[in-house]
Amino acid sequence: MVVNLFKYTKQLSKLFVECNNIILIGHINPDGDAVGSQIALYQYLKSKGKSVEMLTPNYLQEFLKWMEGSDLIRVFIKEKNKCINLINRADLIVMLDFNQSNRMGEAEEHVVKSHAKKVLIDHHLNPAEIADLTISEPSLCSTSELLHRLISELNGSPYIDRVYAEALYTGIITDTGNFEHGSYTPDTMRIVADLLETGLDKARILDLIYNNFSADRMRLMGFALNQRMIVLPELKSAYIYLSKSDLKEYNHVKGDTEGFVNMPLSIKGIVFSTMFIEKDGFIKLSFRSKGNFPSNEIASRYFNGGGHKNASGGEYSDTLDNTIQFFLNVLNENSWMFDNI
Ligand code: 5GP
Ligand code: MN
Repeated sequence: MVVNLFKYTKQLSKLFVECNNIILIGHINPDGDAVGSQIALYQYLKSKGKSVEMLTPNYLQEFLKWMEGSDLIRVFIKEKNKCINLINRADLIVMLDFNQSNRMGEAEEHVVKSHAKKVLIDHHLNPAEIADLTISEPSLCSTSELLHRLISELNGSPYIDRVYAEALYTGIITDTGNFEHGSYTPDTMRIVADLLETGLDKARILDLIYNNFSADRMRLMGFALNQRMIVLPELKSAYIYLSKSDLKEYNHVKGDTEGFVNMPLSIKGIVFSTMFIEKDGFIKLSFRSKGNFPSNEIASRYFNGGGHKNASGGEYSDTLDNTIQFFLNVLNENSWMFDNI
């Protein structure tokens, strides 16, 4: 599929030329793609002599803190006043890797009411109208890929430096599960080839991202699969649930349950996997699916959420037991969705 970005580049180039105080912001609970695209754009704009600041609504997880440039990202909930001042002073705000303003957490109201011009660069479906320029390409595997293509157009040739290459590579591999899922294409691989040509140390990056867990996390994973996974073969579904006390028992820290939801999809015949995590006063749901099963329809229709067809999430304000019961009712009501999948 040919993705033509020419329609955006004239306006984007004008904004980058005209504006000097630029803020880059990713989504709450930032992932490798949000942080990777943010650092890559930071490198590019800095090379053009711009004054640029990076913000994140909340803290980065451990597996991203090795990234060069990540220490320059200001955490909104940690440095609120400083961040609000920066937002108020900005003449351009670039929002990366999300499609709704509430994904900016506590920073949302300040960004929304700021008089700065706003650009959204994202690959999630159905972007809300929150920017002067919306650059939305849901067919691309990552915001990092989209950004690299945009910058290549603006620059006349691919822009590359070491930090930029590492950041983009991180965004692409984390959003595709190291090329296990997601809509990566031959063009993605050509970009990856260019990044590897720079001498990027892919073994080191893989190790820093994927081999960075605690023994407690490994044990929690074993417990979740052994004691907390329910398989529903007749509905081609499986789910994992973890209560607050389960998490406490395994000294859970943020990020420990990352990736668990993908695991049931490796069971033969399972096309839809859900994970329930008990939070304070609500349950966070993560959904993953294979093939044509639209997990995001379940997320948006029943759980006040959304996302991609094969990776989405939502929330439900009730107890863990009641949420699971509601979910099972939803599955049974929608069992027709599994026909022909
Ligand atoms: P995860 O399961 O990794 O937390 O989220 C997977 C994807 O689902 C995210 O990239 C995001 O697109 C989407 N997502 C997760 N939670 C929510 C939510 O509460 N609301 C919306 N709109 N999307 C979500
Ligand atoms: Mn992404």
